[in-house]
Amino acid sequence: MTVLAEQLTARIRTEGPISLADYMAECLLHPEHGYYTAQVPFGALGDFITAPEISQMFGELIGLSLAQCWLDQGAPAAFTLAELGPGRGTLMADLLRATRSVPGFHTALQLYLVEASAQLRQQQEETLQGYEVTWVDGIDELPQQPLFLVANEFFDALPIRQFLRDGEGWREKRVGLIDGALGFGLGPEAPQPALEHRLLDTKPDDLVEMSPVMAPITAGLAQRIAAHGGAALIIDYGDWRSLGDTLQALKSHAPVDPLATPGEADLTAHVDFEVLCSVAAGAGCAHSRVTPQGVFLERLGITDRARTLAKGLEGEALEALIAAHRRLTHPEEMGNLFKVLGLTPAEAAPPPGLNA
Ligand code: SAH
Repeated sequence: MTVLAEQLTARIRTEGPISLADYMAECLLHPEHGYYTAQVPFGALGDFITAPEISQMFGELIGLSLAQCWLDQGAPAAFTLAELGPGRGTLMADLLRATRSVPGFHTALQLYLVEASAQLRQQQEETLQGYEVTWVDGIDELPQQPLFLVANEFFDALPIRQFLRDGEGWREKRVGLIDGALGFGLGPEAPQPALEHRLLDTKPDDLVEMSPVMAPITAGLAQRIAAHGGAALIIDYGDWRSLGDTLQALKSHAPVDPLATPGEADLTAHVDFEVLCSVAAGAGCAHSRVTPQGVFLERLGITDRARTLAKGLEGEALEALIAAHRRLTHPEEMGNLFKVLGLTPAEAAPPPGLNA
């Protein structure tokens, strides 16, 4: 049993079953034994590999899209450049390198990283040596000024609650104890005002998911963009509306039982882009179409960029570049599974690569 499994078992024994969101929050961000806090989980040796770790082209193109937005909005003299959940800092390093030639961009930017893990903050500091970085715990701490923001595989790491429809009400899926071991159970049937609209597109026994922290985070960034200008690029897996159980646990690149090794496996859930869009619209932002990652990157010229990089390469390095291009864009790899959403002020054009 992991240390965290022992602690959770003791807690449930005294407090009773906990929500899946509480379970996920402990597994991912427990100060000592959490998945993101206790180790550096990414990269070929980690449990999963993310787009910026596959190729520099990803961060470069995102940087150019955000910098073009900044130019299109009149190049505001002081602005926040922010990333939610920067991981190892690779995307931000590529973004900053690619935007060095955009006149004025680097003198105007103030770099903020929203990161919960002390371990990862340290890693980000190493990757971003030479840049002045401010780390914050949440969106609320970002200055009230134009905000240009990127979030790759951040929202899928937020804790979710799961509800099973029972008649016109819902029973929450909870983590309790079965014969002394962690196991799933269902709470009592109760109405859920936040799920009122889901009574229209579900039937009894359907399962729906809801992240309690996604809406406040989205509202915080959308409010800043609507009030001061800016743009957000949100990249994640998921789709317009989530239906069914999308909770996934990954360890060493393979799926595992989400309750088996708390704190040692990555836990994610698909992102409900409809919620992102409706919260952003409620705060006064315009949102782009939810666009497949492959389409977004092709529109930004990833193939030309790959050709340029290929010129100096041969043998294995060249093959790795071709494989990385395919992995990021091909519909059977990350190209379709991952979606990109752009948020801008109501009157502004969507970020390059996306359509209104
Ligand atoms: N964007 C990176 C890493 C994605 S993993 C990449 O693409 O490689 C998720 C990241 O979000 C990690 O850096 C993790 O520590 C951070 N994170 C997860 N939940 C968070 C929270 N509630 N607040 C701040 N950061 C969080």
